[in-house]
This record gives sequence, C-alpha cells and structure tokens, in this order.
Amino acid sequence: MEISEVRVRLIPNRNSADRLRAFCSVTLDGDFVIRDLKVIDGANGIFVAMPSRKLADRCPRCHAKNHLRAKFCNECGAKLNRERVRKDAEGRPKSTPTWPPDQQPMPRADREGRQDGLRAGA
Ligand SMILES: [Zn+2]
Repeated sequence: MEISEVRVRLIPNRNSADRLRAFCSVTLDGDFVIRDLKVIDGANGIFVAMPSRKLADRCPRCHAKNHLRAKFCNECGAKLNRERVRKDAEGRPKSTPTWPPDQQPMPRADREGRQDGLRAGA
C-alpha cells in the first residue's frame, strides 16, 4: 500500500485551550481517501484521531435526523422517546445496527479468507 497524498488544513490557534490543530485527508493507492482525520495536541503530545460521526437516528414524525442525546426533534419539535437509545456497558449511546438480516456484514474470518484469495489471484 502506498500513501499517494496527504492534505493538511491547519486550524488557526485562537487560544491555548484549543487542542484541535488540523484536519487532514490521506489518499491510499490513489483511490482510497480517508477524510476528516483530526490532529490533536493531547496531554502526551500530538496524535491523529480517526474520523468520528455523531450517532443519530430519525424522528418518527418527520424523519429528520437527530442526535441520539436529543430530547426533541430539531426539525418539528416532537418529543423524542429517551428509551430509543441502546446503551453500551458505560451508559454511552450505542448505534442501532441498520443492516437488514439478509445483508449482514461479512464475518471477519470470511472477509480475511476472501482477501487472501484475492492476493493469491484466486
Ligand atoms: Zn421531527
């Protein structure tokens, strides 16, 4: 694998409390782009964080997207059911799997076996 391109967009440092230093994107083999990597000035030095996305679901009334912590819909103002959120062991919101039963992601062992086959030219 070859890193084809790295783009870094520096964030102007407004005050020392801002830990976000830059956003960057990395292109692998000229085809695969990873966007919105964050360069963060942490307590133990600078590190790169993978892209993150707020967990969201749809309002039952208007189908607008809302953050899982929202109590009311941002679009129509409907009260949202707090019990809709599944929680992980630490009580943080957990996304609900959206894969239909007949289209589940491939188990890791199967996926790796298939990759080995591709590498061997099978
Ligand atoms: Zn709504």
